[in-house]
Amino acid sequence: MRLLFATQNKHKAFEIEQMLDDSFEVLTLSDLQIDDDIPETGDTLQANALIKAKYLHERLGYNCFADDTGLEVQALHGAPGVHSARYAGNDKNDANNIIKLLQQLSGENNRTARFVTSICLFWNSNMFLFEGELKGKILEQPIGKNGFGYDPVFMPDGYDISLAQMDIELKNKISHRAIAFKKMAEFLKEQTDLI
Ligand code: IMP
Repeated sequence: MRLLFATQNKHKAFEIEQMLDDSFEVLTLSDLQIDDDIPETGDTLQANALIKAKYLHERLGYNCFADDTGLEVQALHGAPGVHSARYAGNDKNDANNIIKLLQQLSGENNRTARFVTSICLFWNSNMFLFEGELKGKILEQPIGKNGFGYDPVFMPDGYDISLAQMDIELKNKISHRAIAFKKMAEFLKEQTDLI
């Protein structure tokens, strides 16, 4: 079965394909040579995932899904949240996003934060939502060279290293995205078991 993932990111597609059995083939937008700039105008992660998945479902009629991720910091009332990618500007610069985050949290003792991934799946024209979260705290300084985004300043609960100090295998086991992907993979397995 073909499942279209609303991403250009082959790495993300590989991650979910690993969790699905062989009956699924995950295609990305690049596989179909689609470079539409799908507007992410929602004011929640769920809304953005829904906009992207619905757009593709309506355009192509395929079973498809989209994800959206954000970092929610308690002392900043959930910011940067849905604006995580463009927190410090439209150029989506990870280093500048981290600088802005640390500035906003300067002198703040409450460093509690979480990553959240929302997935919206259109399966046989019905819509399903899945969510994964990773709880942790924001460090005072960036540390570590792996990963991307806010990884160097995020320390997951139960660990004494940042996400950027973890190897990719460990991060992919515990991450918000992995948890959300796993929930969708379990759902899809149940659906195919029914066939
Ligand atoms: P996206 O929805 O996956 O494109 O994620 C939006 C933004 O959230 C990214 O540009 C990153 O800044 C941040 N982000 C998403 N996932 C992660 C992660 O696993 N680690 C660190 N930052 C992330």
